[in-house]
Amino acid sequence: MATTLTFIFVSLLAITTLVRLWLGNRHIQYIQSHRQQVPAAFTQTISLEAHQKAADYSSAKTKVTIAETAAHAILLLLLTIGGGLQWIDQVWTQWLPNQDIIRGALVICSALFASTLIELPFDYYRTFTVDAQFGFNKMTPVMFFSDMFKHGLVGLALGAPILFAALWLMQGAGDYWWFYLWAIWSVFNIVMLAVYPTFIAPLFNKFTPLADITLKSRIENLLTKCGFKSQGLFVMDGSTRSGHGNAYFTGFGSSKRVVFFDTLLDKLNADEIEAVLAHELGHFKHHHVIKRVVMMFSISLIGLALLGWLINQSWFYAGLGVHQPSDYMALILFLLVSPTFLFLLRPIMASYSRKNEFEADDYAAKHADAKFLVDALVKLYRENASTLTPDPLHSAFYDSHPPASIRIAKLATYTGNR
Ligand SMILES: [Zn+2]
Repeated sequence: MATTLTFIFVSLLAITTLVRLWLGNRHIQYIQSHRQQVPAAFTQTISLEAHQKAADYSSAKTKVTIAETAAHAILLLLLTIGGGLQWIDQVWTQWLPNQDIIRGALVICSALFASTLIELPFDYYRTFTVDAQFGFNKMTPVMFFSDMFKHGLVGLALGAPILFAALWLMQGAGDYWWFYLWAIWSVFNIVMLAVYPTFIAPLFNKFTPLADITLKSRIENLLTKCGFKSQGLFVMDGSTRSGHGNAYFTGFGSSKRVVFFDTLLDKLNADEIEAVLAHELGHFKHHHVIKRVVMMFSISLIGLALLGWLINQSWFYAGLGVHQPSDYMALILFLLVSPTFLFLLRPIMASYSRKNEFEADDYAAKHADAKFLVDALVKLYRENASTLTPDPLHSAFYDSHPPASIRIAKLATYTGNR
């Protein structure tokens, strides 16, 4: 049974890695082969120069992702059947032979730290070589590392209690520990959704109330028209880190707030901002956030129930390179290995997300002017140097948003009706 699991895991990891590398290469080739000409729908709005910049920027980013994918696969093999986790466990056991829970937490943190560490050079390269080359990076190395340090501390402060709760429940809560853990995990996530905008996001960015009175009253009109209550309109200093623009809603219930990146406000006019906001409101009106949360909770319940069973199967450990079964080993193995098994579901999740985008566009077209949303999208594609010609298969696997040409063609049908 153990050898069967090893065989399935290694084959699946090889397949998903090869599929990822193949999709990345296809994407680059497709973009480069469409580099010489701006797609017909955009000849009036996007210059050849901007189109080529987008092609080169997207290709450069995809190359980094390809290298990162390969590095991740190698690390995963080293940690599992390469004996890495087993070795980490032995090291901590020498130090803390009798402290199961603390040792477990340290083993898990060490493995997660290794996964984070391997991403570091890629993130650094993405920021200071790729983004810098295309004029998007605003960060200094000091900011980069202090952000990383802060993220680590926040992750530790929030993650440690959950991790200890998990290990404690696994050890002493009986056969249904996974259900109690799921309940705690779900409550934790809901609390996070509520406190994130007010307590955590401000650790990384400054949020100031929207000062532009005219814009503010237009937006408030739209919010009232759509029956939406929020805790305020804020501008976030996204420009201190990057040149990319965005707008979003955070929080839920009474802590909801609308956040605009300062970069977005700089680039779009009031009509366009209103249309973008109407799109975001569409996500709320169609309950996309709630649906996503419910889906996440269901998946984690299934996952934890499965782990509740796997934890008692000796082949689960042996098949993945661990010779001393323990609660914490089951947990970390499951965290590390499950993405490989879930990768093939990715196109389904991505297509669901694209469906949500169409629904939000539909809502925007009914409550604002679709023409302005098209204008805003074109500007954002241009300013962010996003490619207009993604490889269709790559897009089907990865893209949470429909390709620009399809989305804009759909929006154009609404403007035609007016
Ligand atoms: Zn959207």
